[in-house]
Amino acid sequence: MMQVPLFDMRLQYRGLQKAIEEAIQRVLQSGQVILGPEVAAFENEVARYLGVGYAVGCASGTDALLLALKALDIGPGDEVIVPAFTFFATAASVVRAGATPVFADVEADTANLDPRDVAERITSRTRAVIAVHLFGQCAEMEPLWKLAERYGLYIIEDAAQAFGAEYQGKKAGTLGHLACFSFYPTKNLGAFGDAGMVVTNDPHWAQRLARLRVHGMEPKYYHAELGWNSRLDALQAAILRVKLPWVDRFVDARRAIAKRYQELLAQENLQTEMRPLVQRPYGKHSFNQFVVRITNGHRDALMRHLSQHGIGTEIYYPLPLHLQPCFREFGYRRGDFPVSEQLSQEVLALPMYPELTYPQQKIVIQSCTAYYRQALRLAA
Ligand SMILES: *Cc1c(COP(=O)(O)O)cnc(C)c1O
Repeated sequence: MMQVPLFDMRLQYRGLQKAIEEAIQRVLQSGQVILGPEVAAFENEVARYLGVGYAVGCASGTDALLLALKALDIGPGDEVIVPAFTFFATAASVVRAGATPVFADVEADTANLDPRDVAERITSRTRAVIAVHLFGQCAEMEPLWKLAERYGLYIIEDAAQAFGAEYQGKKAGTLGHLACFSFYPTKNLGAFGDAGMVVTNDPHWAQRLARLRVHGMEPKYYHAELGWNSRLDALQAAILRVKLPWVDRFVDARRAIAKRYQELLAQENLQTEMRPLVQRPYGKHSFNQFVVRITNGHRDALMRHLSQHGIGTEIYYPLPLHLQPCFREFGYRRGDFPVSEQLSQEVLALPMYPELTYPQQKIVIQSCTAYYRQALRLAA
């Protein structure tokens, strides 16, 4: 039994149980379980929340990325710049689209895409940059906008971890040509299963996305192009509609928890051993994850210690994407992205979800203190 789990989706269910069960009943009674009015309503509500023209629901965040690339006609012969340090799907979607992922390194203090390295990787074949808002903090967009303008590139936001985050007062999801969201259960707005969405202000891309998610079909049983089956379930949409009005409160709770972690780390004098990734002043961090860097080689032993004491942690991500065996064909080597490689050795995500309590946070940090006392005594 976990004393402090990394994440517990049951708590949000209990908090909204009545409304969620009513929404499920409504869908079951309606007899329409795929796309339909429930999904259309959710799309409209997200578009209104973000202040964008169009939102197109689909089956997952991974599919959202693939659909976005295809809506921009990105495919064989094209290069798309992606961070080397992100979740696998960011780069996999580029490969699935038939294009070539070109990795760029990230900033050591935020783990977000380094715009200076992006600039170095642009070639005549570059069509787009996927800006990942890692762990819930928006990437530094302004230099990317400048590069996009100068070289005629598209910016796709991978906002899977950043629903509710902001950059210079603008919401994540409104910072590029197209933006992709995931509603995987651990994300800021989490379904009880898989779900995703692409948002944009462009009506033509929106129309194409809506077609691509149903086998490129328009009108019925006429297929102008090949698409996928990537539809959003009405049940997930109905549940997400219950949660959407709460999402700002969820994000505020995550931010408060992050602040308390910082305070506890300071109180316990652990800030050098466990250095939180930096929060940039340009926006509103949505803290999908609270990630610390453990720079003295203790990460894996600390993780084991915490696990033995019933505390869940996770390494996002242990192997940078340029070193993944399935991307071997692209010819990258160890040493190509030193910051990404170093972060993969140092990062540790602590328990983080809106319902996490202060006593639980204390247990986590006190257990870290206990670990370091013991480790330093052994070393002495
Ligand atoms: C979760 C995630 C995805 C993929 O979303 P799924 O809904 O799981 O397919 C893509 N990119 C990032 C950065 C993510 O965190």
